Amino acid sequence: MPLVKNTADKINIFQQIVTRLGFPAVMTTALLVTWFGFTHYNIPHSLAGLLAVLLFGFILLPILERFNPYRREWNKNDGDFVTDFIHILLVNNVVVALEKGFLTAVLIGSTAWLATSIGGQAWPSQWPHLAQLFLMLIIAEFGRYWIHYAAHKVPWLWRLHAVHHSPNRLYFFNAGRFHPLEKILFQLPEVVPFIILGTNIETITLYFTFNTIHGMFQHSNIKQNLGWLNYIFSLPELHRWHHSKKIEESDRNFGNNLIIWDIVFGTYFNPKDREVGEIGLLNTEYPKSYMGHLKAPFAKRDISKPIGYKKH
Ligand SMILES: [Zn+2]
Repeated sequence: MPLVKNTADKINIFQQIVTRLGFPAVMTTALLVTWFGFTHYNIPHSLAGLLAVLLFGFILLPILERFNPYRREWNKNDGDFVTDFIHILLVNNVVVALEKGFLTAVLIGSTAWLATSIGGQAWPSQWPHLAQLFLMLIIAEFGRYWIHYAAHKVPWLWRLHAVHHSPNRLYFFNAGRFHPLEKILFQLPEVVPFIILGTNIETITLYFTFNTIHGMFQHSNIKQNLGWLNYIFSLPELHRWHHSKKIEESDRNFGNNLIIWDIVFGTYFNPKDREVGEIGLLNTEYPKSYMGHLKAPFAKRDISKPIGYKKH
């Protein structure tokens, strides 16, 4: 099958700007809107983050996908939109909120204990907000990296994670496609250390904006050429390889927001001489409905692979 290459061989100046500067421009603006919202306009923190995510994630990114696509065919609904919508609604709101509430209640005692034993809060709240955000990104990323790595190597974890790898196209909306049980695991390194360290609400809000917009960008069908940023962040040029059907390509680039731990642990992958081929799981019969995704990990065999599949 010939490799379908994107895009507009001749792209106009505006598309070139989006290709080179789309991510830094959108992310900077979204973080500023969030920050101004709670510092200058007294908007409640969670609302300021939500506003930025709605404007720059849910509204702007699908427009950029149409304006400057990586692969035009990935903009066509593959019967997956409703399923992804339910994933976004349930997993990213209900599951996340319940888990955060539960963990906060459980860990609040240890936070108090830590604060008394070290004579104050461990989190450096006196640092500038941007520096605190990067500290939170680096700490959270370490746990995320290893849980994601394990999700590709441990068979029962892979069954859960296969739901996330099941789409045959990449677009902003499948950033939220996770089995709820896996989401609970992935949340732990983003919540537990920061409750214990006493991280402030401002940093947590900026992290929410960064994490959500980055996740949508990472899975988006926007043509990108981000140069040196590909050695810091885990963006589409890297993450497409992670969704490749070829296991030797998808067992790379485990980074969630940052790619630094892939560089440190030798799983960084960014070949320049070719484009990624087909996306998704080896089994073309993998369920597409939301209920199908909920049940898939508990099937008698690992259905991410076709019947009779042998590893070679
Ligand atoms: Zn993965």
